[in-house]
Amino acid sequence: MENTLKTREVVRTYSVPINNERIRELITWYSEMLQRTIEKIWSSIIWEYRFPEIVRKKKGIKVKIGRKIRVPKIPSDKNFKKKLRDSLLTQCPYAKHWVDAVIRTAYSIISSWRKRYLKGKARKTMPRIRRRFARCKITLMRVDYERKIIRVTLRPGEYLEISWANRWFINRVRGWSVGEIIIKDARVLIPFKKNEVEIIEDLVAWDSNELSLDGYSPSKGFIKVDLRYLQSIKIVYEGKKAKAQSLGKRELYEKYSRRERNKEKDFINKLAKQITILFPKAIHILEDLEKEDMVRKEEVEKNRRKRNSRTPWKQIHRKLSEKAFIAKISPKNTSRTCPQCGYIVKTQVGRIFKCKRCGFELDRQKLASLNIYLKYTRMWGFPHSYEPEISYEGELWVGVTLNGWRPMIWAPMKGALRPMKPREERLISLDINRNETQTPLSR
Ligand SMILES: [Zn+2]
Repeated sequence: MENTLKTREVVRTYSVPINNERIRELITWYSEMLQRTIEKIWSSIIWEYRFPEIVRKKKGIKVKIGRKIRVPKIPSDKNFKKKLRDSLLTQCPYAKHWVDAVIRTAYSIISSWRKRYLKGKARKTMPRIRRRFARCKITLMRVDYERKIIRVTLRPGEYLEISWANRWFINRVRGWSVGEIIIKDARVLIPFKKNEVEIIEDLVAWDSNELSLDGYSPSKGFIKVDLRYLQSIKIVYEGKKAKAQSLGKRELYEKYSRRERNKEKDFINKLAKQITILFPKAIHILEDLEKEDMVRKEEVEKNRRKRNSRTPWKQIHRKLSEKAFIAKISPKNTSRTCPQCGYIVKTQVGRIFKCKRCGFELDRQKLASLNIYLKYTRMWGFPHSYEPEISYEGELWVGVTLNGWRPMIWAPMKGALRPMKPREERLISLDINRNETQTPLSR
């Protein structure tokens, strides 16, 4: 593959504790104003009807289906914004830019609600602010990179100083620039940003399965990343939570939920990090899960299995996108197309994919990742020499280590068409058990 350069903005957010009465006052004001602004924008939303024609294929015939959709139009004209600003200014004891910060945050909350609403993921109810915070604006901040101090204007002539000079992360953000901070009651979240230029030398296509992440890359061949630990967390905590619930212990239930979330988050973090260590200069091609809803009926079963599965795919994809370059591709037909001749198989049974037309055979779990890979390279017109010489020998086994940086790797196995070797399986689960009893290293 010809090497390509890619630039990526890397953001690392760190938290600095603060304790200041003025901050709590500011947050109280900010939260109230934010909710009020959201109410004002909400009451000025104009609901429009749209009649999109959706084309569906039924037995080879294209059928147009009309649908009525109510679409919210968010007021955004200058006049409306000016009125909004003027009315907020009469109740603002702080610098004027704080009003602009409130308005901008309100708009971003409403527009993200709108996006979710149009996807059918949010109800037609006004968003409510549940957490106390104040999102700053860059115009309210002066950053002294020498002394590592952020000076935030509260009122003209009145400032708040936040320092990261003695923080543990100081070396991790040396030379990075500071973005807009978020102020909370007892801490400030500071995002540090840097543009990274990377040389891309490899492509890896990933198929998301319930118990594993199955990959294909021309440099390493087939890869299987074990995700059973994620499942075991879910199963263990589902049991614990059910018990707490049956005993009516709400606090206990919440404690378990928190722990479950933290463990999951920790694992996903390590998974993403270790994948980038394994493939340091790669673009990761993932299935576009948003497009899942549009894939054909015949594929629904497989996709439903994915969506209903316990594996938090979206979080994994998001975390990976923070640490590496990713590209997304529609998963349509990737689990039933013959990579050799392009024939689309109607029925899917058994572990092994068999092409009726050319006789091509491959383990079904590997098929999708290979197809995702091919779809991507063909879409972007990679040269023919880049077509993989598929070797079906073996598969790289990867386990996520919970107490270190490097992933566990097993050498490619011979005869990959056979099911997993029990010996290897035991190895993985042993390791998971051992790690679970230890406290995971923080960072
Ligand atoms: Zn074929």
